[in-house]
Amino acid sequence: MSRYFSEKLKDLTPYVPGEQPQERQYIKLNTNESPFPASPKAIAYANEAAKQLQLYSDPECTALTNKMAQLQGVKPAQVIFGNGSDEILLLAFNAFCDQKTPAVFPDITYGFYKVFAELMGVRALQIPLKEDFSIDIADYRQAEGTIFIANPNAPTGKLLTLGDIEEILKSNPNNVVVIDEAYIDFGGESAVALIDRYSNLLVTQTFSKSRSLAGGRLGMAFGNEALIADLRTVKYSMNPYNVNSMTMAAGLGALEDQSYTLSNCETIMNNRSYTTKELRKLGFTVLDSMTNFVMTGHPGISGEELYTALKQRGILVRYFDSDRLRPYVRMTIGTKDQMDAMLSAVKEILEVQK
Ligand code: PMP
Repeated sequence: MSRYFSEKLKDLTPYVPGEQPQERQYIKLNTNESPFPASPKAIAYANEAAKQLQLYSDPECTALTNKMAQLQGVKPAQVIFGNGSDEILLLAFNAFCDQKTPAVFPDITYGFYKVFAELMGVRALQIPLKEDFSIDIADYRQAEGTIFIANPNAPTGKLLTLGDIEEILKSNPNNVVVIDEAYIDFGGESAVALIDRYSNLLVTQTFSKSRSLAGGRLGMAFGNEALIADLRTVKYSMNPYNVNSMTMAAGLGALEDQSYTLSNCETIMNNRSYTTKELRKLGFTVLDSMTNFVMTGHPGISGEELYTALKQRGILVRYFDSDRLRPYVRMTIGTKDQMDAMLSAVKEILEVQK
């Protein structure tokens, strides 16, 4: 730390992204990316947009916004795009949290919520998950601040029903409720359908998982027009050109190729059932997941040991060094071949352990 670093940030613990190794080819099951390339249409559109890189990008993301609004059956003014949903979440922390309004979220969830709260200097009220790693919605009645819930949650993969979300919305008329749907396309039911009914609902989504555009960095939020206008105020005070023109074009291409996305999601869901079943046969505990990853652990080996042994065999998974997560690793669901490679490595590791 330099002696110039801001006093208010000196205790900040930044987010630690999953490894993105450059030195060797791993089977990457550690950051919940898609194993499939982006749609050919997305790539073709991005290439075309590259020819106009001398110009700034469209700060309104007009074509993308209109297409998304049409697909979701909402008004363009109910949508905003950002540089990944991480940026959208940061806009929401800026817009809806302050000294008087803390951020409220589960103790086991997406790590960035805590980091953003610290960065913004707002209190983080972390509510423990139940013993089975599920969210008790009763804990969120009349919350003390802005609620952030990943649905499905990460790294647990567990899903709340729309009924549960509505309970939370109804009991928090004075709080914004942010539902982070990064993984909603893998079998969950989206809360976007509720935005006209609940003026306190903001739903965030991403192109990073189901649409294979993690490196493009594209995310969005849906909500009542007034909430979206608040996010726009923050966006236009930070970085109006937050979505670059190649990504914007790629996003449009991906939206015009919905069947590609849907068929990839279906494959991932099938591979998820297969992986869950096979891991259970080997004695693993696997939480029922509605995402493109599973949280899993084996009584014979700690999460860290399994992570290390898999890494030695060229397979990267994610391990979390925190109390309740120590017995587990989080594995992204990839192709069937990748899952088979992971399963044979796991069998070998368990043999060695004996
Ligand atoms: N929310 C959750 C729950 C996530 O797991 C992630 C991915 N790390 C994000 C948001 C952010 O994704 P992105 O910025 O790539 O849209």
